[in-house]
Amino acid sequence: MLDQFGRKIDYLRVSITDRCNLRCRYCMPDVASCERHEDILRYEEILRVCRAAVQLGITRFKVTGGEPLVRRGCAAFIERLKAEPGVEQVTMTTNGLLLDQELDALLAAGLDAVNISLDTLDAAKFTAITGWPQPAPEKLRALLRRCCESGLRTKVNCVLLEENREDTAALAALAAEMPVDVRFIELMPIGFGGSMTRVDPDEVLAGLKELWPDLRPTDEKRGNGPAHYYASAALMGRIGFIDAVSHRFCADCNRVRLTSTGQLKPCLCFDSTLDLRALLRGGCTEEELTEALRAAIWQKPRAHRFETIQEITERRTMSQIGG
Ligand code: SAM
Ligand code: SF4
Repeated sequence: MLDQFGRKIDYLRVSITDRCNLRCRYCMPDVASCERHEDILRYEEILRVCRAAVQLGITRFKVTGGEPLVRRGCAAFIERLKAEPGVEQVTMTTNGLLLDQELDALLAAGLDAVNISLDTLDAAKFTAITGWPQPAPEKLRALLRRCCESGLRTKVNCVLLEENREDTAALAALAAEMPVDVRFIELMPIGFGGSMTRVDPDEVLAGLKELWPDLRPTDEKRGNGPAHYYASAALMGRIGFIDAVSHRFCADCNRVRLTSTGQLKPCLCFDSTLDLRALLRGGCTEEELTEALRAAIWQKPRAHRFETIQEITERRTMSQIGG
């Protein structure tokens, strides 16, 4: 459907849990208190929301978290979502730690693509950023290769931080080693990200252009999101940037978000949500659910206000929102 500003909304990010096995500094650094199990939407309830979304022309879904793979039954849920009439695409974003053991089930479920978050290939820095005590980057590199070999469209997401500024070349080089797109995400002032120093994505791009002088912008469509991409003859994959703060892309925003507790979030920046859990558990009909969704999407704000800290009303962490 179109919102009040004429934007086509066809993409829903679905968070299935606020729990996570990592403690990324910018997202969920403490053992934050998690939602009670009974407050999290059951898979059946999430499917009802997705069906209503399909009625409004939302055909592409991103399964996220917290860490989606810590919730039992994730692959079976994806299989059911994929089987819903009108659902064209189901993708996932994950930190990858549990993906090796789940990959076959996810492929059988029909997962269309995966984004794996990886902020550094340096094991000690990985631990410093994520709190994960074991050396993970080499395993994740092997996992990326396995995903590519399985035919799954695979991307790497790296949040730009002061800690990994020096690691961007090595991460970008993954796109030379295998057909993955490597995307650099500008830190957003949401949750703990608000108190950390942002790294300028343009500086990172300039550094990468020194390594690959033929790096050029490309208009190829590489997914559902706001990333802009660069190609080089030396790279199999593309280098992407998602720079919501320095290069605002609100005019082209195509998405809304569903938190694990059933709050529909029209914009990342603001705390206003529609309580779909109350509707679902209050016995609403499918029509009522669809109409409530329609009204909330229509009201989607024109743009974020990330540049004016006082105007950011969202107090949830990214792990509670889903990224
Ligand atoms: N656990 C999964 C993962 O890490 O991919 C899915 C959830 S995570 C919240 C989704 C994405 O949000 C990740 O790529 C993560 O790096 C990103 N993210 C978290 N906090 C962020 C922030 N403050 N600014 C920008 N991206 C952020
Ligand atoms: Fe967990 Fe993803 Fe947040 Fe890291 S970014 S703490 S992996 S939810």
